[in-house]
Amino acid sequence: MARVAFIGLGNMGGGMAANLAKNGHDVRAFDLSQDALDRAKAAGCLPAASAAEAVAGAEAIVTMLPAGKHVEAVYTDTLLDGAEAGAILIDCSTIDVDTARRVAAAATARGLMAVDAPVSGGIAAANAGTLTFMVGGTQQAFERAEPFLSDMGKAVIHAGGAGAGQAAKICNNMLLGATMIATCEAFALAEKLGLDLQNFYDIASVSSGQSWSMTSYCPVPGVGPESPADRDYQGGFAAPLMLKDLRLAMEAAGSTGADTPMGKRAAELYEAFVAGAGADKDFSGIIETLR
Ligand code: NAD
Repeated sequence: MARVAFIGLGNMGGGMAANLAKNGHDVRAFDLSQDALDRAKAAGCLPAASAAEAVAGAEAIVTMLPAGKHVEAVYTDTLLDGAEAGAILIDCSTIDVDTARRVAAAATARGLMAVDAPVSGGIAAANAGTLTFMVGGTQQAFERAEPFLSDMGKAVIHAGGAGAGQAAKICNNMLLGATMIATCEAFALAEKLGLDLQNFYDIASVSSGQSWSMTSYCPVPGVGPESPADRDYQGGFAAPLMLKDLRLAMEAAGSTGADTPMGKRAAELYEAFVAGAGADKDFSGIIETLR
């Protein structure tokens, strides 16, 4: 088993680092928060006093940080100089494609290997080790990263060169944001038309309107499998994180000249939801603004 550095032990990183330790790796963990370090220690990781201490001697360096600016700062301040030759750098944060490509190029220029490997699946999947990883990088870098990612997830898919993991992630989540809103408004209209919502679910879930937003994550309480709707829209995937991903998608659409009218509207609707009642709700709670 390998020595692994893990930087960023928050909601997602805490569970991911714990799974690496559970799978026998020697995990040197670092976070700015003492609470996070204490939890990592309880989960079998060895807390480090600094990012530099965590990365010294590590074969793999995993980062799970809030946004592109944090990733770039940690890479520039510590990783690029502190990583051992031959180490694989694995960034699992959700960040913009341009920053992902820039940090990967900087790593390559120093003779290091790097992948972007953002995840699908929330805190529960991070804890359970059932995340899906979408990976951007060379074939060689993918092969180096794959065993570590497999210890934290159920699926590891190579999406293409540097930045391709982030590109797949934001396209997927733009689709998710738009289909969730479309699912919510269909149920709201069905209700106004006097349909029984369980009956409408039974019809649409086996008809052409079916989607993951409906059949795995139904936004209507008491309809479909258990979902955050059944817990007053608590837990699950927080609306501010959906908004973050939609903003990244709009940034990417702007820089590539892609026309994404549904994604743009979804971003506007989540912007309004998060500014109001949705600040601490699951993203499916947006149905309350449409019902
Ligand atoms: P979080 O805010 O809970 O955790 C981030 C951690 O990084 C914090 O503990 C913070 O102290 C630490 N940190 C920040 N700067 C640091 C630095 N310079 N050095 C060391 N540690 C530092 O966030 P999260 O929910 O764990 O999300 C992490 C990433 O995963 C984000 O990019 C998010 O978009 C993505 N993501 C989250 C979810 C989810 O459901 N929470 C799902 C998929 C993807």
